[in-house]
Amino acid sequence: MGASILAETDTLATLADHWLAQFERALAEPGDALLRRLFHPDSHWRDVLALTWHITTVNGRDAILEELKAHAARAKPTGFRTNPHRTAPRHVTRAGTKAIEAIFRFETAEGRGSGVLRLTPDAGNTLKAWTLLTALDEIKGFEEKVGASRPKGESYSRDFRGPNWLDHRRSAAEYVERDPVVLVVGGGQAGLSIAARLNQLHVDTLIVDRGERIGDNWRNRYHALTLHNQVHVNHLPYMPFPPNWPAYVPKDKLAGWFEAYVESMELNYWTATEFEGGTYDETKGRWSVVLRRGDGTKREIRPRHVVMATGVSGIPDLPDIPTLRSFAGTVLHSSQYDDGEAWKGKNVLVIGTGNSGHDIAQDLYSSGARVTLVQRNSTLIVNIEPSAQLPYALYDEGPPLEDCDLITASIPLPLARKNHILLTERAKNLDRELLDGLERKGFKLDFGEDGTGWQFKYLTRGGGYYFNVGCSDLVVKGEIGLVQFSDIAEFVAEGARLRTGESLAADLIVLATGYKGQEALVRKLFGDEVAARVGPIWGFGDEQELRNMFTRTAQPGLWFIAGSLAQSRIYSRYLALQIKACELGLLPRLRAPATAP
Ligand SMILES: Cc1cc2nc3c(=O)[nH]c(=O)nc-3n(C[C@H](O)[C@H](O)[C@H](O)COP(=O)(O)OP(=O)(O)OC[C@H]3O[C@@H](n4cnc5c(N)ncnc54)[C@H](O)[C@@H]3O)c2cc1C
Repeated sequence: MGASILAETDTLATLADHWLAQFERALAEPGDALLRRLFHPDSHWRDVLALTWHITTVNGRDAILEELKAHAARAKPTGFRTNPHRTAPRHVTRAGTKAIEAIFRFETAEGRGSGVLRLTPDAGNTLKAWTLLTALDEIKGFEEKVGASRPKGESYSRDFRGPNWLDHRRSAAEYVERDPVVLVVGGGQAGLSIAARLNQLHVDTLIVDRGERIGDNWRNRYHALTLHNQVHVNHLPYMPFPPNWPAYVPKDKLAGWFEAYVESMELNYWTATEFEGGTYDETKGRWSVVLRRGDGTKREIRPRHVVMATGVSGIPDLPDIPTLRSFAGTVLHSSQYDDGEAWKGKNVLVIGTGNSGHDIAQDLYSSGARVTLVQRNSTLIVNIEPSAQLPYALYDEGPPLEDCDLITASIPLPLARKNHILLTERAKNLDRELLDGLERKGFKLDFGEDGTGWQFKYLTRGGGYYFNVGCSDLVVKGEIGLVQFSDIAEFVAEGARLRTGESLAADLIVLATGYKGQEALVRKLFGDEVAARVGPIWGFGDEQELRNMFTRTAQPGLWFIAGSLAQSRIYSRYLALQIKACELGLLPRLRAPATAP
């Protein structure tokens, strides 16, 4: 049995290596006849910096051939082989299609990379590439100093009279007579991840956050919060959570971990510091930015790069509801809501049925308030377990985290969409009883555009769904009320008056109506011109990649990172490599069309 598994693995590796050898030959030879034979007509190539210095997806054989040839001539990729140190080639099913999946390595003139190849047979049973990922791991000569090449700490370890490690750390974080090369605005998971990566690449980086204490972005959220994804998907770079941690990490535990992370990863982090905006000097290639410190003083610094890691929760989106002004009670945006205790025995309307609305409604209910959810738009509901965990099944399959991350990055957008349609169907069946119950109560459900589910709602609009941790069950049982916003005729001093003539008493109205897109924040902090130059951030538009995320933008020296812990972990690596490459002069800071480096 063991022997036959070994033999099969060998065969799969041989098949993949054969394809990779042919691929290397095809890239080097003139014309594209051989290359054409290696790809299915309906195939996909995603390059993450390795060949193009862009994060880009090319769909269809003809387009792939053209792009590959153009970029291979410059990048000179060689040495394509399956990687014996990573998950062995194996049979998988991705987006409903059976394929052989192989992780491989290669190098280019500038760096070393890893990739994922998926082979499927054509009508004549010849294995051809269905998907191909080529991703940059490191720039030659600037490899991360980890494991056997870890730093020796000579600057502080043998000189008994000189500054020790702590002295070095303190003076590094003070920035008394120097400016950081990179300023990271926001010290949540996105900010921590990119700063840790840049540290490894010896790029001097300072994080600023308005929070009083590292981790406040989690600490200050509602009392009962635990993470929605299981712990093994949520690790930060370099420092995985301990194996005895609970599956769903509580917010304060995560906040504490963030503090430990900053200490361990030697990150320079200024708390209680507000980034007030900046201007870019084209000739000097530097920003001039203003920071307001906790003691009220201002500090102007001149970094070459500003990375916005400010999250999607920047500016509350407050709907214009004219009659709300007649309401005599308290109105709070969800970002101002803290704890339900003060509302025990009171009547509360929560407007908005995404995650925040549901969680706040449940928190208030648990504190003894009488709560009614007000639904404005149809909403996707998915049970936290197992349905909401389905997209992360890969992380349970056995391959190490690094391989799972590479495989995740290897799924091109069209297949990700297909995959999520399938997962959404599965979730719908698993959650059928709950969904039927909600519909009986008049809750309006949806399943995302073309049935692509919550992941695509998150990637396109950052909301519009709820992971059910109990609130939907309370709605089904009638413990938490439900009315449609369209059934409210007007708000009055005592609450709301329904079109039926009934009234809904309220002492508190919570607006769980979400946040404005990051464009609004860019406009506020950098002005109209920069906002117009950068354009939309997050979501896809007509593109195959998230707009302006993790990549050069049309504004030199301005970068964006956001998303889940997993996205922050995966893409911080690539964002850091681009900033390092800019510093080394390997690529211009300005985003150019995907056909040129
Ligand atoms: C109940 C719940 C469960 C969740 N579970 C998960 C999960 O399991 N996995 C997961 O990946 N995600 C989860 N999320 C999503 C998670 O909240 C976000 O993904 C995360 O907070 C985004 O991190 P971030 O670093 O991009 O931004 P944030 O955490 O929002 O951090 C941004 C930081 O920027 C700072 N800031 C903003 N503007 C300025 C300024 N001008 N000057 C100075 N500082 C500024 C803020 O103070 C803040 O600390 C969950 C969310 C909730 C509510």
